[in-house]
Amino acid sequence: MKIAVVGTGYVGLVTGTCFAETGNVVNCVDVNKAKIEQLKKGKCPIYEPGLDVLLQRNIKEKRILFTTDLKAAVDKSDIIFLALPTPPGEDGSADLKYILNVAEDLSKIIREYKVIVNKSTVPVGTAEKVAEVLGRKLAPELFDVVSNPEFLREGIAVDDFLKPDRVVIGTSSDRARDVMNELYQPFVRQGNPIYFMDERSSEMTKYVANSYLAMRISYMNEVANLCELTGANVDLVRIGIGSDSRIGKRFLFPGIGYGGSCFPKDVLALHHTSKQNKYEFKLLDTVMKVNKNQKKVLFGKIKRFYKNSLKGKKFAMWGLAFKPETDDIRDAPALELINELLNAGAEVTVFDPEAMTNVKALFGNKIKYAKDQYVGLKEADALLIVTEWSEFRNPDFERMVKNLKSKVVFDGRNVYSLEKMEELGFYYNSIGRKIVNGKN
Ligand code: NAD
Repeated sequence: MKIAVVGTGYVGLVTGTCFAETGNVVNCVDVNKAKIEQLKKGKCPIYEPGLDVLLQRNIKEKRILFTTDLKAAVDKSDIIFLALPTPPGEDGSADLKYILNVAEDLSKIIREYKVIVNKSTVPVGTAEKVAEVLGRKLAPELFDVVSNPEFLREGIAVDDFLKPDRVVIGTSSDRARDVMNELYQPFVRQGNPIYFMDERSSEMTKYVANSYLAMRISYMNEVANLCELTGANVDLVRIGIGSDSRIGKRFLFPGIGYGGSCFPKDVLALHHTSKQNKYEFKLLDTVMKVNKNQKKVLFGKIKRFYKNSLKGKKFAMWGLAFKPETDDIRDAPALELINELLNAGAEVTVFDPEAMTNVKALFGNKIKYAKDQYVGLKEADALLIVTEWSEFRNPDFERMVKNLKSKVVFDGRNVYSLEKMEELGFYYNSIGRKIVNGKN
């Protein structure tokens, strides 16, 4: 099939590459010229495990092509995917300007039947809005608008796209339904479902999924805070509840708040949709408040330990990305923590396997960047663990002890066992567990 993907970000690039991988010819479009030039040379602009190999293979086979020319890409394609940003507007609603502007551009370009597929996360009613914009210039038989939300997780995006738990497709057109069904067959050969539904339910499904996950994390974060006060261990509680098949083991890990490019903005947007419909979605309100609070928890622990006197203290930070296996730092808890430490007069040296360049673009020389995880510990008063990259799980503890000024670790991700830290003699303050070698 012939496909255009508009927007080559985390979603667009994975979508385009995976469709090329199943034999389709994909033309990817972006307004960012530098990105397109980089992609033409086979260089992947984001860190996403496995993506570069697929990308290079499909470039070589000429199944994936890159351009800044929307018309050229659309003319060569039957299906047009929109993988454009939908950031929060001032009132918290998803800003649809990118989507609607491209819809308007498409209305001037399209000459024969195309399926326009919305892959971006968009509020209920957006498919109708896009159809309305297209319909101002185009006859109805020239297009169908489909909602096809994306559920991939950054860090395992390629696997998620190639083997999705489910595909959700919102359309009221039989013609578009057949096209989408054919396109997705290679991805559901193991029998995972393609759910066809109306556009509004499909758009809603994505927000409800992300908000539910954000709520689940927030629930465990509150449980963790209560565990600290009562002397229970949240990790044992987590295991205890996760084996109940009604609850399930996944997504129960407490931490220092959810971040990333999706959960915060999607919870906010669903909250806004509720408000617009004069419905008070109390749970969402609370999820946002809990998360705001949780992002401050590690800083609170640090402040208490140093009795509010952080001036001149040196901190080494392991992990910056909002989660492991990505370079994405959008709304990452690390950013807020760095700001709070700097405002309190502390010095910060950071290390992250993939996200340093993105953080440097924000903080410049206000903080220091370590070339490996151990160098950053030198002369540090404490280590702060913010992202649970695998390489932090079994470190060279001897080197850690040698480099750190004091054996003090604040861990926002519960990476180490309490026993191990006790044995090594660390002051170890984590989330929802007793403090090792210190008082709760
Ligand atoms: P992104 O910011 O990484 O990428 C968006 C791309 O669109 C950028 O490369 C930008 O240059 C390009 N762009 C902007 N205007 C354009 C235009 N007029 N024409 C062509 N290209 C244009 O965003 P993303 O993370 O890929 O997210 C895209 C959408 O998918 C959002 O709605 C998001 O909520 C949703 N989503 C994201 C994820 C995720 O994990 N990142 C997962 C599921 C859904």
